[in-house]
Amino acid sequence: MHQTTAGEQTILIHPDAPLKPDFGAPCNGCGLCCLAEPCPLGVVLSGSRRGACRAVRWDDASHLYRCGALVAPQDVLRRALPVAIGFLATPLAPLLKRLAGRWIAAGAGCDSTLLAAKPEEVADNSVSP
Ligand code: SF4
Ligand code: SF4
Repeated sequence: MHQTTAGEQTILIHPDAPLKPDFGAPCNGCGLCCLAEPCPLGVVLSGSRRGACRAVRWDDASHLYRCGALVAPQDVLRRALPVAIGFLATPLAPLLKRLAGRWIAAGAGCDSTLLAAKPEEVADNSVSP
């Protein structure tokens, strides 16, 4: 892992993750948006509005980040649900996967305006794309 600085936020990101594409270009799974802060669905799954989404998953085979609500809905639900109702993770997983596909507009263009730079690229606290 290495650190990437976006604005005033330092993000831990896998060194093999692809560079973030331009706004509107096809999403390449760089993970920056999900690691910076959760989307509305991620807020629910993470129980927080700040920090990396707890649902984001690194895919070693394809070297990119994926939304756990899509690729590991049962595991994401098991971690998100209170222990007392954790048994609902299995029956609810297909529903989460279906809803996540609509809510997060999977396969659409990159909708993040974040700019990223590696620490060694950041001089005097300025951030360049
Ligand atoms: S939407 Fe953009 S920032 Fe988010 S993972 Fe896709 S390419 Fe990266
Ligand atoms: S797209 Fe998925 S992994 Fe990314 S912030 Fe939203 S819920 Fe989390």
